[in-house]
Parts: sequence; C-alpha cells; structure tokens
Amino acid sequence: MVPKVVFGEGCFDQLSTILTSQKQEKAPFIYLVDDTFKNNTQFLDRINLRFNDKLLFVSADEEPKTRQVDEMVKNIKTEFTYLPSGIIGIGGGTVMDLAKAVAIMLNNKGSAADYQGWDLVKKKAVYHVGIPTISGTGAEVSRTTVLTGPVRKLGINSDFTPFDQVVLDPQLTKGVPKNQWFFTGMDCFIHCVESLNGTFLNAFSQSYGEKAYELCLEIFLGDSLSEEESRAKLMMASWHGGMSIAYSQVGVAHAMSYGLGYVLGTKHGVGNCIVFQHLKEFYPKDVALFEQMVAKHNIQIPQGICKDLTSDQMDTMITVALGMVPLWENALGTNWQEVITPEKLKALYLKM
Ligand code: NAD
Ligand code: ZN
Repeated sequence: MVPKVVFGEGCFDQLSTILTSQKQEKAPFIYLVDDTFKNNTQFLDRINLRFNDKLLFVSADEEPKTRQVDEMVKNIKTEFTYLPSGIIGIGGGTVMDLAKAVAIMLNNKGSAADYQGWDLVKKKAVYHVGIPTISGTGAEVSRTTVLTGPVRKLGINSDFTPFDQVVLDPQLTKGVPKNQWFFTGMDCFIHCVESLNGTFLNAFSQSYGEKAYELCLEIFLGDSLSEEESRAKLMMASWHGGMSIAYSQVGVAHAMSYGLGYVLGTKHGVGNCIVFQHLKEFYPKDVALFEQMVAKHNIQIPQGICKDLTSDQMDTMITVALGMVPLWENALGTNWQEVITPEKLKALYLKM
C-alpha cells in the first residue's frame, strides 16, 4: 500500500516540504510532467526546481511502452552521476505509470519488459511520488504499472511498484476535457463493477469497491454536487476503486480492452467504455446504469472500430484478451474457458 498521502484543494504546494526530507546530496529530483501543462506557467511556477533537479514533459498521447521506460532510464543514468533522490510523476495514469516504472528500473537491471508479470522485481525502487491530475485509473494507489512491451501489454506488479508518497489535490484536475473526464472516470466505475461482481471478491475489496461505486453513482448520475465536490469525490472514488482491485481483480471489460489497446492503440479509458456497452450478458444492471450516464453527459462513444480489422489483427486481439487468465477467472470462475471461446470474443469484438 501507499504509505503516505496528503489530500485537499491546494495541497500540491506542500510538495517541496515533503521532498526536503528525501533529498540526497548531488542527487536530483526528476519530475515527469504531462505535457498538457507545458504552457501553463502558473502551474509550473509552483514546482520548485532546486540544484540539479530536472523537469521532463511527457506526452500522454500514447500509453507507456517498455522501450520508452528503458530509454528514459538510460538518459537519466547518462546525464547524472548519482541515482536520483526521487521520481515525481504529475499527470494521469500514463505519466504516473511511467514514473513508477522508471523508479523501478533505475534500481533493477535489464529491460522493463523483463519485469512484466507478477513479483519479478528484485530490488526496491528509487523513492517515487504520484500526483494525479485526472481521476479514475487508481494508478496513484495500485501495485502495478501497465506497460506495452514487445510481446504483451501487462503490468509490472510488485511490492516495489506503489508510490512512496501520493499528493491528492483535486484542484489539479480542473482543466480536464469533458470526454476524457468521463472515460477515465468510467475506468473507476468499471473497476468497481468488475471487482464487486468477480469470484475473487473478499471483504477487503468489497468495502473499498462499494464506496467507490456509490461515489461514482453520485458523481455521474446525481445532480446535487458542486464542481468542487464532484472533483474531490472522483479523486477519492479513483483511490477506493484502485484499492478494491488491488486485492481482487478486474474482469471482462479490461481483458477485452487490453486487446483493443494492443492491436489498435485504443486508450484504456475509452477502450473500456467501447467494450463495456456490449457486456449486458455479464453485467446487466451496470451496463444499464452506464447507458444512463452516457446519455446524461451526452458522450459519444466511438463505434465500428473493429470492422476493418484483418484476420491477423483479430486473432492477435483475441489472443491478447484470452491471455489475461486471472481476469477471466475472476469474472467467470475456473471454468471460464467453457463460456469464453475465441469465436465468442470475435463476435463481441465485431460489434465494437
Ligand atoms: P492519461 O494519463 O492517458 O491522460 C489522458 C488525457 O488527459 C491526456 O491527453 C492528458 O494530457 C490529459 N490530462 C491529464 N490531466 C489533465 C489536466 N489536468 N487537464 C487537462 N488535460 C489533462 O489518462 P488516464 O485515463 O488517467 O490513464 C490511462 C493510462 O493509465 C493507461 O496507460 C492505462 O494503462 C493506465 N492505467 C493504469 C492503472 C494502474 O493501476 N497502474 C490502472 C488503470 C489504467
Ligand atoms: Zn482500468
């Protein structure tokens, strides 16, 4: 679990104080910042670069890749004599996952691709801090960093992955465009649905999942929240949703969304929405609620994205999705292969 967290409007300004105790002589802090903030001088002025600290803008146009992590690690090691005092990731799931992966790989040999899987990391990561600027993925709290590698899209799941410190400042999510707010927010809703309806469910996951689910309904279907309350609650929903799946698993939507992401580069949040609308068979009550949310916020979900796939692409998509064994087992039980066949997946993908 994340051992330290601060929460509240404006708490981002506590960052310098928090970092002071972690500063090692000659060792810089490296800030990875979503490039959406590139021209936002008001925000950048609040980041207090000292000595040889370095700020790198990172594009979130594509989801993180293992080779991107390897390259960043190589550049940091080439430029600095000492390992950094810390890595600070400021952005959405994309930048936070990169920050976690870079922190791990600065202290572990080889390529990030060697560590995709469960508990393969040998050594503690460099101190790392997560600061979300959009809410929903739970990447700020999870023990994984999802990377696309040469052969698979899979997380580095380990006890060394979670951040050492998280700064939750709802104000930072103010500029998020509406569609993106919805897609990333739905990632949280779908985490809850898949956790709460899964066979891996236990009291730990359920208590977090139910709270996050309730918050999502209030945010996306209610009418009583101010924008400020809504931002704060979505940040906490994201946290609780992330905690819920940390001790259970996600399900059908995530397995299929990984397939879309791997073959078409479809981003996680929108990919989950594209899939989820067709999952009435598995999550009937929640797909109905999802449809209400889509209508209420007037969101257009991309359609027909699989219609021009080649048969090779379709096969890869199915293989990637079927490869997510723990997700299927959670969703459908140990006999999942009797329910989900390649043909069944193909028929579902063709609807998307
Ligand atoms: P994202 O990080 O990809 O960002 C989406 C868009 O929002 C980008 O264009 C970004 O620039 C923009 N943005 C972010 N903050 C903004 C702000 N304050 N104002 C304006 N624009 C802003 O989106 P995401 O949905 O948070 O993350 C998706 C990634 O998270 C995927 O790579 C996925 O694999 C990963 N993920 C990780 C976990 C985990 O547990 N580690 C869980 C779920 C998803
Ligand atoms: Zn997700």
